[in-house]
Amino acid sequence: MSKKRASNTSLDCPTNKAKHDVSRRKFIKVSGTLGAASGVLGVSGQALGLTRKAPPRYAPEHREVIVVDSGFGGSITALRLVERGVPVTIIEQGRRWDQPLKPGEKRFSENLYPDGRSTWLSSTTVVPLGPALPIRKTTGVLQGRRLAGKTVLNGTGYGGGSIAWGGVMVKPEEQIFKKVFPKEISWEELQLHYDEVARRLGRASLPDDVADADCYTHVRVMKEHCERADIKWEPISTSTNWDIVRDELAGKTPAAITKGEAIYGVNSGAKGGTDRTYLK
Ligand SMILES: Cc1cc2nc3c(=O)[nH]c(=O)nc-3n(C[C@H](O)[C@H](O)[C@H](O)COP(=O)(O)OP(=O)(O)OC[C@H]3O[C@@H](n4cnc5c(N)ncnc54)[C@H](O)[C@@H]3O)c2cc1C
Repeated sequence: MSKKRASNTSLDCPTNKAKHDVSRRKFIKVSGTLGAASGVLGVSGQALGLTRKAPPRYAPEHREVIVVDSGFGGSITALRLVERGVPVTIIEQGRRWDQPLKPGEKRFSENLYPDGRSTWLSSTTVVPLGPALPIRKTTGVLQGRRLAGKTVLNGTGYGGGSIAWGGVMVKPEEQIFKKVFPKEISWEELQLHYDEVARRLGRASLPDDVADADCYTHVRVMKEHCERADIKWEPISTSTNWDIVRDELAGKTPAAITKGEAIYGVNSGAKGGTDRTYLK
């Protein structure tokens, strides 16, 4: 089997979509290989995770390309290749977060009272927002490493950083973008891709009716302060399903994002991710 590490810089390209529409079954088959791949690596999420069942066995199959990573870069790369008829195997070290739930069970760790599901193979939490809390060491969603005196965090699981991210989708202004990125990366060219990613991940700004809720007081206070200080203010756009947020606010769904869940996963499913979009 020839191995290639597909580049994480692959961009979302809507132009060929009609020509190379993905076969749903084919792509599901691709993502289904993930369990086998992680088993081969010896870091099976299931072996180390919550269920402790033996990882599933799959018959060996030949694939043209192996993508190591199921995060933003990896999942989009894999989807675009499959759309063009190139079979792909994704290797992801983290586990899937689609386990069946018993009544009253939650998929992800609580934010305020984290358990092992919060953190990747560590016996304490790693987010430097308070004291490190003791947890069970297992294959949780957020990995923290000390690099050059700093704590570096990344999401670890099927969907990569999109499991742990805040869902904030900022489209940088031209002058800021050009200050940061080398000239080989074209701001003009990327506009199309920003729009496609926004469509896929459901980018939307905070609706007025939701902003009126108590738990969004901080947003209203910030707006007032900005207006008083004559600072330009606009709500940040996020990959959020606002209907689920409305259900949380109405008590139809247990509060999740409305009580601060984000970096350890959002139990109501209100936050968008590549596991439920590009990788589906
Ligand atoms: C807490 C947090 C909040 C964030 N919030 C936002 C936000 O609101 N908005 C925003 O734009 N960005 C946010 N980010 C940043 C964003 O998540 C990252 O920029 C993005 O995920 C990087 O994408 P990636 O494809 O490079 O890798 P990732 O999405 O990090 O995916 C990498 C994947 O590869 C897997 N992997 C790594 N090494 C191996 C290996 N050897 N074998 C198998 N698998 C491997 C990892 O387990 C992981 O699943 C946030 C990040 C964190 C940590």
